Amino acid sequence: MTAAAPAPFTAADYAARMARATEAASDAGLDGVLVAPGPDLVWLTGYRPVETERLTLLVLRAGRDPALVVPTLEAPDAAKSAGAPALTLHDWTDGTDPYTAAAPLVGPAGRFGISDNGWALHLLGLMERLPGTRYTALSDALPMLRAVKDAAELDRLAAAGAAADAAFEEIRRVAFAGRRESEVAADLAGLLRRFGHEQVDFTIVASGPNGADPHHEADDRVIRQGDTVVLDFGGLKDGYGSDTSRTVHVGEPDDEERAVHDVVRAAQEAGFAAVRPGAACQDVDRAARAVVDDAGYGAYFIHRTGHGIGVTTHEPPYMVEGETRPLVPGMCFSVEPGIYLPGRFGVRIEDIVTVTEDGGRRLNNTSREMVIVG
Ligand code: ZN
Ligand code: ZN
Ligand code: ZN
Repeated sequence: MTAAAPAPFTAADYAARMARATEAASDAGLDGVLVAPGPDLVWLTGYRPVETERLTLLVLRAGRDPALVVPTLEAPDAAKSAGAPALTLHDWTDGTDPYTAAAPLVGPAGRFGISDNGWALHLLGLMERLPGTRYTALSDALPMLRAVKDAAELDRLAAAGAAADAAFEEIRRVAFAGRRESEVAADLAGLLRRFGHEQVDFTIVASGPNGADPHHEADDRVIRQGDTVVLDFGGLKDGYGSDTSRTVHVGEPDDEERAVHDVVRAAQEAGFAAVRPGAACQDVDRAARAVVDDAGYGAYFIHRTGHGIGVTTHEPPYMVEGETRPLVPGMCFSVEPGIYLPGRFGVRIEDIVTVTEDGGRRLNNTSREMVIVG
């Protein structure tokens, strides 16, 4: 059972986002923003082109209409995207120089924020064609551009979180012992789709010693009685991301497994409790890490505490030491401490959290106790 899809974003919504980006660029002392295919382009225009070596570039410049440079063969698709009525399309044909097509829209000179992803090939092409232009990473220049979500975006993120939670409530009831990690991962992917995800980004099933590798996906290892199993899964539902982790145990855990799980749970709680407007991103990391450090497992918490989420499942802001930017209501990110004991097992607990006016709100709400599976 899935709720009705939310009303799609309109050309007016995308026009407002592009206007906001252009204004934010001006405020930051930039002449404009250049956006390659990827999450920034999806967020600004609703256009999700296939990523190829051909130049596609959104050009936002104060005082000019938003312009999208596209290969001629992609122009019909681009014209169908929800934001297309709010921009002008400039196509270029194979055999002509795309940078010559883009140059008058970008130049003749200026300083631009450029989306983090995109091909070096294209940036170098522009630099050669427009020697008077300079570029800076969009996520450095305009870190708040996509980080602070509006109400419609928060609704989508909450629905994606609820769908991932529903998937967990089902997966905890399937058989683990005697099955391969890859089989449980396939179950998880099917459940995410069943609960409304159109895209599955990852289904980590990391059992026993595999759990000690935070990046372990799922392999042929047969899960056994006594295994601790890290589950970490997510994807996109109605264009917005889910990402949650729970650590389950096949049968009754031993004392150390239970103790490590308790530490991670307390760390996750402490990280969540540190979420409030005005706190720094690094405060969330520090709060979670202090719990793990105090328990003596600091050396085994080997990654940052969290990452932003929106039209992608991993994006700024990062909850990491050194990230001093403040939390702002509407930001959404993971709080996901873990402990990884090489050759033995791992534990991670992850919720997506949004910053509210006076604290934080979890978008994942399944039990954070160590769930026993069969
Ligand atoms: Zn065990
Ligand atoms: Zn995750
Ligand atoms: Zn995550």
